[in-house]
Amino acid sequence: MASGARIPLIAGNWKMHGSLAGSRELVAGIAAGVADMTAGVLLCPPYVYLSSVGEWIAGSNIALGAQDLAEQVGTGAYTGEVAGGMLTDVGCSYVIVGHSERRTIFGETDARVASKFKAAQAEGLTPILCVGETLEQREADQTQDVVAGQVQVVLDAAGIEAFAKAVIAYEPVWAIGTGLTATPAQAQEVHALIRGMIAALDGTIAAGLSVLYGGSVKGANAGELLAMEDIDGGLVGGASLSADEFLAICRAASS
Ligand code: PEP
Repeated sequence: MASGARIPLIAGNWKMHGSLAGSRELVAGIAAGVADMTAGVLLCPPYVYLSSVGEWIAGSNIALGAQDLAEQVGTGAYTGEVAGGMLTDVGCSYVIVGHSERRTIFGETDARVASKFKAAQAEGLTPILCVGETLEQREADQTQDVVAGQVQVVLDAAGIEAFAKAVIAYEPVWAIGTGLTATPAQAQEVHALIRGMIAALDGTIAAGLSVLYGGSVKGANAGELLAMEDIDGGLVGGASLSADEFLAICRAASS
């Protein structure tokens, strides 16, 4: 588990799920259970529900985040886009950047992910940078190269100092939404690689950097994953849509 100054963070990525009424019920269930948790708890609902979720969690220890943002900073003629400043305006403090579904389904390149990372920070948000290999890449023994390459692009674009106010999520693509989970040892190996890359440039930033694991995390496997030295929390998709399951993960991170 996260050592030293790193407080575990459990982030729920609701993706394109839910309704207004369903979101309200989910938030009520989560809020009822998190008051005594020591882990950080973050909810990332779809854009249209951010304001409502922000109101429902007001006064609780739950933080609000978005699932994506525009790479453009400020405002402008970018139909359909949502700027980072609009996200902070409705109470977001985090934003997911470069989720594998954005990369594969919507064709986001490493360069665009780096722009979004920079835009997030320029607008006062903490980016959660997602990286991870496909099954094909893992089987071809390319995991380390792929993940290191994805981190390096953002390091080159934003600089090492940017990682003092960022989170990285290692999410093996083959484990997202599939029910397959990296073993704690497989995940730890990649988390250590990521922290090592940052440590080679700045030991203090590396020691404070939260590296989350994502990929079919649930109550039953959260404890063993979070027990690993360089796993500082979870980015949770499917299991974040059930208050009971999400709370079980938060509890594992709080023990
Ligand atoms: C995710 O979407 O980031 C994710 C990890 O999903 P799941 O937990 O469903 O695998």
